Amino acid sequence: MASLLQSPLFLLGSVWTLPNTVLGLTAWLLLFPLGARCRLVRGVFEIEGRPIRLLLKSCFGGAMGVTFGQTVLSWSEATHRVARDHERIHVRQYLVWGPLFLPAYGLASLWVWLRGGNPYYDNPFERQAYAVACILPLSESEEDNP
Ligand SMILES: [Zn+2]
Repeated sequence: MASLLQSPLFLLGSVWTLPNTVLGLTAWLLLFPLGARCRLVRGVFEIEGRPIRLLLKSCFGGAMGVTFGQTVLSWSEATHRVARDHERIHVRQYLVWGPLFLPAYGLASLWVWLRGGNPYYDNPFERQAYAVACILPLSESEEDNP
């Protein structure tokens, strides 16, 4: 993913998607007192910990990871490792779409659902991410002890 950081459009995309990145960092700041951790990995803030896992379970259908701009929220370092390539595709999408990404993603899901498809797996943003990087499930021990 070094090419992402070396791209001449990376800085411009970072500014363009800053509102989304702030959203992810706000989640970390709010959950930091409860144990959420944040690391900068190749230009992306990776946020994890038990409160993030609870947040993803309660608000995102138990998703392993959710990307907001240049932040990725996930259960643990292990789940970041498993989903990293997939989530980096979403980071690239955010760099292109900026503040339009979340409305575009929601509208794409709605459009797919209205046409009888699965609003997650048939969403073109997800199809692009899964085409490049499929997320493999964790083993039971990794899932129980992320
Ligand atoms: Zn995805």
